[in-house]
Amino acid sequence: MEGNINPDTIFANNEMSLRDTEIYGFDYDYTLAFYSRNLHTLIFNIARDILITNHRYPEGLLNYEYIPNFAVRGLHYDVQKALLMKIDAFHYIQLGTVYRGLHPVPDEEVIAMYDGCHVPLENMSDFYGKSSHGHTMKQFMDIFSLPEMSLLSCVNDFFMRHNIDYEPVHLYKDVKEAIRDVHVKGIMYRAVEADIEKYICYGEQSHAVLKKLSEHGKKMFLITNSPFDFVDRGMNYIVGKDWQDLFDVVIVQADKPGFFNDRRKPFRRVTDKGALLWDRIHKLEKGKIYKQGNLYEFLRLTGWTGSKVLYFGDHIYSDLADLTLKHGWRTGAIIPELRKEIKIMNTEQYVHMMAWLQALTGLIEQMQVRRLIKTFRSHETKDIFNPQFGSLFRTYHNPTYFSRRLSRFADIYMASISCLLNYDFQHTFFPRRTPLQHESPFWPEHSPAGISVTSQLSRTKAESD
Ligand SMILES: [Mg+2]
Repeated sequence: MEGNINPDTIFANNEMSLRDTEIYGFDYDYTLAFYSRNLHTLIFNIARDILITNHRYPEGLLNYEYIPNFAVRGLHYDVQKALLMKIDAFHYIQLGTVYRGLHPVPDEEVIAMYDGCHVPLENMSDFYGKSSHGHTMKQFMDIFSLPEMSLLSCVNDFFMRHNIDYEPVHLYKDVKEAIRDVHVKGIMYRAVEADIEKYICYGEQSHAVLKKLSEHGKKMFLITNSPFDFVDRGMNYIVGKDWQDLFDVVIVQADKPGFFNDRRKPFRRVTDKGALLWDRIHKLEKGKIYKQGNLYEFLRLTGWTGSKVLYFGDHIYSDLADLTLKHGWRTGAIIPELRKEIKIMNTEQYVHMMAWLQALTGLIEQMQVRRLIKTFRSHETKDIFNPQFGSLFRTYHNPTYFSRRLSRFADIYMASISCLLNYDFQHTFFPRRTPLQHESPFWPEHSPAGISVTSQLSRTKAESD
């Protein structure tokens, strides 16, 4: 008994046809360029060294290194209590996933601290996952935040281990600033540019997608927060030196999510030497590079409005949320973690565990005994994905906070844009019709997970007889 979900599938939250899609937009980092683990190690090391040299943190931190499989994306961090945890779609903390430094906090302690497991809305981070005034729970949505979570946990661990009396709020801010400096001061950009093969992987697949789109006469554009030099170097590696021929518009240092909201920032031309020009922009031309700007101006200059545009990005808030909620473009989320999770879900062990859990839940619901299920579901179903925090998508039966946001802001989602190579441009994606709680679960459905339609049909027929 094995699962058979193809990791290269494009999954649909919303019905969407590629037939109607004429214009394809892309984010750059983790959308067109996919980075190896070496990049996380690099970010971790540089930020750790910044803490020591610029913020006078103890040199003992040098003993810590990036822990690749420690955190997962979408976790929340309680800035005041210095706790990293997973929260579900209903704002409940998943017990067993609360970490102080590198160690789990016992359930009883969590319940005492939060007066249960629920986190009130006003404590959660704002719309973009940032913690600002009054929000004590910051959510980490970025793939770049994996080294940040790892560093936060290591520094907390160091201070606790040495019984140092420290203020968690300061620690959070310093780590955040150090990580930001790695990007803003260009340290990461220079390191990647100097050794591109060490950091970028699967370039040829992104190239194949772009080539296929261009052969089908699709318009393409790039809107990235990264600077031109960095993108140019990466795209040279992925596509070749004439990569700009593929794109009708290229926007760098766009300052998303501000780009989607702030009408005031004008576009500015950048030469390929990086010089900024002062002339007013009346059209966005192919082969030229523009900096900053805003989406309202972009829509006005290109006329690319509404659902004929599909934009791909890996950051569910800053790439996709505003486009879905305000501007009506279609959105595709790139979730590289899907590949690993689907592989696990396809194992015999997992399929067996789920079948068993389903049966057991049914039985327990009938008999109304709760203790059994608690002991069963809390460990194995989580640990199989990640020993500390489990799956990116689920907490027990519930979707995670991350999952809920994903299903709201992305029309489709996939492990990488290379999944597009498996579909022709006439394809229509349909979300699987999962029954609502008050609906009968026995309607026949076409299921990519391979549930036989005919057997379901005959079952429904037998039942209706
Ligand atoms: Mg990105």
